[in-house]
Amino acid sequence: MTLRSFALRLLGVLAFAGILPGQSAASELCPALDTASPGARQAITDHLCFYTARPGEPAHQAVSPEELQADLPWQPANGHDLVFSHTDSVYWVQLRVRNTGDHQGLWYLKLNYPLLDEVTFWQEHEHPGAHGRPTEAATPLVTGDLYPFATRGIDYRYFLLPVTLDASESRIITIRVQSSGALNVPLALMTPGEVIAESNHLTLIHGLFYGALLILAMFNLLLFLSSGTRYYFYNAFYIGSMAMFLFAMGGFANQYFWPESTDLANSSIPLTLALCALAMALFGRSFLEVRTKTISESVLRGLAWSTAGFLALTFLLPYSKSILLNTVMALTVIVSLSVIATARWRQGYQPAAWYLAAWIVTVVGALAYAMAAFGYLGDYLAREVMMQAAIGGQVILLNYALVQRWRLLNQKLLDVEHQARTELELKVHERTAQLRNTMRELEQANQKLATLSVKDALTGLHNRRHMDSILPEMCLEARRTRQPMTLALVDADHFKRINDTWGHDFGDQCLKSIADCLNQQVRRPRDVAIRFGGEEFALLLPGTESDGALQLCQNILDTIRSSEIRTPDGDITQLTVSAGIAEFNAEEQPENLFRRADKALYQSKDAGRDTVTLAQPELSEEGVRTSSRN
Ligand code: GH3
Ligand code: MG
Ligand code: MG
Repeated sequence: MTLRSFALRLLGVLAFAGILPGQSAASELCPALDTASPGARQAITDHLCFYTARPGEPAHQAVSPEELQADLPWQPANGHDLVFSHTDSVYWVQLRVRNTGDHQGLWYLKLNYPLLDEVTFWQEHEHPGAHGRPTEAATPLVTGDLYPFATRGIDYRYFLLPVTLDASESRIITIRVQSSGALNVPLALMTPGEVIAESNHLTLIHGLFYGALLILAMFNLLLFLSSGTRYYFYNAFYIGSMAMFLFAMGGFANQYFWPESTDLANSSIPLTLALCALAMALFGRSFLEVRTKTISESVLRGLAWSTAGFLALTFLLPYSKSILLNTVMALTVIVSLSVIATARWRQGYQPAAWYLAAWIVTVVGALAYAMAAFGYLGDYLAREVMMQAAIGGQVILLNYALVQRWRLLNQKLLDVEHQARTELELKVHERTAQLRNTMRELEQANQKLATLSVKDALTGLHNRRHMDSILPEMCLEARRTRQPMTLALVDADHFKRINDTWGHDFGDQCLKSIADCLNQQVRRPRDVAIRFGGEEFALLLPGTESDGALQLCQNILDTIRSSEIRTPDGDITQLTVSAGIAEFNAEEQPENLFRRADKALYQSKDAGRDTVTLAQPELSEEGVRTSSRN
């Protein structure tokens, strides 16, 4: 670096910093840029001069370079991008270019910031008259958000000014910029090939970025439609509004959505920003599951309402006010949500951790955006990519947070299901045990009932009902097996007299002793002793022939007769019984058998009682065998 160029640079730095008054001769501080040199084009900011025309100054009113005073104190950019914050001033920028090559060439002066209200480009020959033909310089390019998109000349989201230079031609390019938002004039001078290459490269990045956002938004919307869960909708809403905001910021919205509408071109940024803030507040509210009647809940509700209010205000306020308000609002929402998410995380709500991580990434992105918007960050293309990376990261983290939340809910559901199943199993077990117990009790009760229904209460012998049910069965079996079967009917003699003499209770006692005697005598397992009437008993003796039955009855008669019973008045008395026996005949019916036995019993009574009579095999035959007491 020569001493002269060093001195010039130092002067320039001081002038940029406002230490030295600007120099009127822009040509000294801002040397012409050699368009043929890629290095020089890279260092375009070393060749730029600018002038800040504050309201009230003549340069603020001027609408063409001719109206500028000749000794305008231009300042060199000195290697800095021309980035200014919100301002009322008009900015004049000047660049001298010279084609040192030996051919005519085309370059594009590219202004990498799409959101300027009014931008006018002029091109003049540095040495008027040197080139006779009229050039593009003759008509200024007047464009910006205040004009329809088509005024840009070239259908591109950034401003492009074609600069055609003959060999050794020099030109002065003057730009007038006025904007109610952040005023940034990042410039680049590129060949058509470089513009195409850069555009292609960025198109790929943007395509991937917006494509991914669109798919995620659609996916969340579908999840909402199928599950009805609101936070999926809010997430889709947030992704959608964030994509719209970045789309507008990148100049795509003006280019593709509303190229004719200057109103929307101007209000799209605060509008989409307000939408983002509203979506953030709503999503945060539904995702963080803040408990009702807490401060957090009130804050989130307040945020949702105020962001909705700010959205409405955006339509009423001028751009410069609404962009500031909405930026502050968005930052407030981000900070509040981060604080609430931290609190929820500390309360043990795990998905809040991922949510918080997403917000940290966004805070970085939002800070970068805010710094750039207010003029503290240069390199516009890098800023755009950084913001996209931050938002992309945030969206991915937020969706991961959703997955975590879904997992948590699923786990809770599984736990509840498991618990319910365990409880159910326990209950089923308990109930089964209870049921088994009840069944056992029921069975016992049934058995008891069955026993009771076939037993005689006084003597404990079987009763008439039992006889009625088993006599036909025994007859059938005897007929089938050809085995003998005998029925003996036993009746207490003169029992009425016993009752009449000593009372009914004593009579009962006597009946019991007769029953005991029958029970003792009837020993075979299949023999059955029955009390089928008042003082009438029956013996069913399967497998026993009449002789055996005769013998058995004789024993019974003997035993009863010989047993002494003490009467209530202290005397001793004896009982006697009479019996009638009939052996089953395979051709007859059970009733017939009974009738024959009964008849034999009557014969015993007629024969003087205390006697056993054996009925003849056939009812028709009159003959009976009577066995007397002897
Ligand atoms: P027979 O020698 O002709 O059989 O004379 P009997 O008195 O035994 O016969 P009857 O049929 O005339 O009388 C039966 C009596 O048995 C009548 C009744 O007082 C008595 N009796 C019937 N059932 C019961 C009972 O459950 N308990 C008591 N104590 N007596 C009964
Ligand atoms: Mg009787
Ligand atoms: Mg009797």
